[in-house]
Parts: sequence; structure tokens; C-alpha cells
Amino acid sequence: QAKEKGSNQYQIYNENMNQKLSEELMMERALYEALENQEFLLEYQPFIDMKTNKIVEAEALIRWSHPQKGIIPPGLFIPLAEKTGLIVSIGNWVLREACKQNKLWQTKEYKPIIMSVNISVLQFEREDFVNTVESILLETGLDPQYLALEITEGIAMKNVEENIDKLQSLKKIGVKISIDDFGTGFSSLNYFTRFPIDSLKIDRSFIQSIEHSQEARAIVSMIISMGRSLGIENIAEGIETEGQLNIIRKENCHKAQGYFFSKPTNPGAFQILLADDKEF
Ligand code: C2E
Ligand code: MG
Ligand code: MG
Ligand code: MG
Repeated sequence: QAKEKGSNQYQIYNENMNQKLSEELMMERALYEALENQEFLLEYQPFIDMKTNKIVEAEALIRWSHPQKGIIPPGLFIPLAEKTGLIVSIGNWVLREACKQNKLWQTKEYKPIIMSVNISVLQFEREDFVNTVESILLETGLDPQYLALEITEGIAMKNVEENIDKLQSLKKIGVKISIDDFGTGFSSLNYFTRFPIDSLKIDRSFIQSIEHSQEARAIVSMIISMGRSLGIENIAEGIETEGQLNIIRKENCHKAQGYFFSKPTNPGAFQILLADDKEF
């Protein structure tokens, strides 16, 4: 009887695995088609300058508008896109679309802002990455000083010399470099000082507990003062409450982003914020 039960369990496990596999295969095919069918879209979330309380930057965030499933957030398809390598084409689409949008807003004569774009490690590691960035800037006509590339700490941990070279080439083009989710990646501070970085985005997990945890506040305070003494700008991610905002103001943070100001929004809604030059 035990044996029978065992084999039943095996079968159930096997069916679940098969189901999971075929779901992933279907999703993979759908991802390929999504690019062709233009099912991806970008939302934009503002960063607020802590001195002027105005928008100075926007982060482009991808969504997949799936014909049956509706809007799918990036957390549910970026990992698969990375696994299949499709992230390179998707990432290039994001870069082009975000630069095009920023250029369009500038031609409408709103106050120029920086457009911040998330770059996957796989994209960054491509040999032609610097060329790709350069040609997208040329093609869209966006002035490089209005583009920031968000990379993660991971690139400070392998192929260090190669990555420093690459970042320096990007700096030569004139784009800005930000480290996303800073504080979660355990990168070596020693290597870190050798990277030409413009800003650190302090991870939301620290901001979330900053009102109640001495440790979180100490970490944020340390990151901000380290950034300041290295001439690197600080951005607080994920501000949701006034209390959190007050603390990061006291800590002298440069910029902040979070639902407290605005959720990521479609280009039309973002344009209204720009047109109002809204003070937050
Ligand atoms: P991220 O780059 O750290 O982006 C910030 C994420 O936090 C976004 O989620 C944003 O909607 C969310 N967020 C912003 N403020 C708040 C807040 O106050 N509270 C909370 N709870 N969340 C907040 P989203 O859009 O779901 O993106 C998740 C991640 O997916 C991004 O994290 C980024 O790593 C990745 N991603 C998004 N777009 C792209 C892309 O175009 N390319 C690549 N490679 N990755 C992307
Ligand atoms: Mg980001
Ligand atoms: Mg982030
Ligand atoms: Mg994050």
C-alpha cells in the first residue's frame, strides 16, 4: 500500500512539473510574440528633488499588456526574459522608448528631466552595450546628460576591470550611472570606490523600516554620508509615508521616489505632472 501511495505521489509531482514546464514554455513563446506585437509598455515614476520639491527625474518601468491576462508586472516576466536571453531585445526596446519619450517631452518645452532606465546585467555584459546606448541616443536625439542607467551592485562583483572600463566609456558618452537597490548586494566597498557612479538608490527595504528600526536608519545614514563624501548623489526608493520623508530629509538625502509622491503612471498622466511643474 505504501508503495502504491508513493507512486501516486510521484505521479502528482510529475504532473505538476509538467504543467509548470509547459506553462513556462507557453510564457516563453508569448514573450517572444509580445515584442513583435508591441504588447510592452512603459510607466513613469517621478523622483523628487529634496530642495525644490519638484520632479527632476523619472524612472521608466516596463509592463506587459497581455491580451488575455491583462497587465503583468515586470517581476513576473523579467526573470524568464533573463533566462531566455530575450531581455537584451526587450531592454533595448525599453531604452529606445524611454529616450524617445524624454526627447518628446523636451520638444514640448517642459522642464528637462533625467530619464532613468533599468539595465539587466545580461544587457550590460554584452560586448556591444556601449555602442547600443550611443546609437539609441543618436537615433532619438536625446542629449546624453538626460539619460541615467540603473545597474545593480552585482556588476561590481565580477569582471571588475572590464566593467570599470565599460562604465568609463559610458561616462565618456555623457550618460549617468546609478546603482539600483543599493545596500542589498554586498558589493565590496573597495571596488566600489573605483566605479564611476553618479547616484546610489537606497533600497526600499531600508526605507520601509526606517521609522521603527534604529539599524535601518543607521544604514541609510551611513549610505548617505558615504555617498556625500564620495561626491555621489543619494536617492531614497519607496517613500510611502510622511514620516519616512521627514527622516530622509533630516539625513540630507538628495532625491526621493515612492508612492507617497506618485505611483508609476502612464505617459499622459506623467506629462500632466510635468506640465504643472508640480511642487510636492
Ligand atoms: P526597481 O528598479 O527597484 O523599481 C522600483 C520598483 O518599486 C517598481 O516596481 C516600483 O513600482 C516600485 N515602487 C516604487 N515606489 C514604491 C513604493 O513607495 N512602495 C512600493 N511598495 N513599491 C514602490 P515594478 O515596476 O514592479 O518593478 C519591479 C522591478 O522590475 C524593478 O525594480 C526592476 O528591477 C525591474 N524592472 C522594471 N522595469 C524594467 C526594465 O525595463 N528592464 C529591466 N531589466 N528591469 C526592469
Ligand atoms: Mg530601478
Ligand atoms: Mg530600485
Ligand atoms: Mg528596488
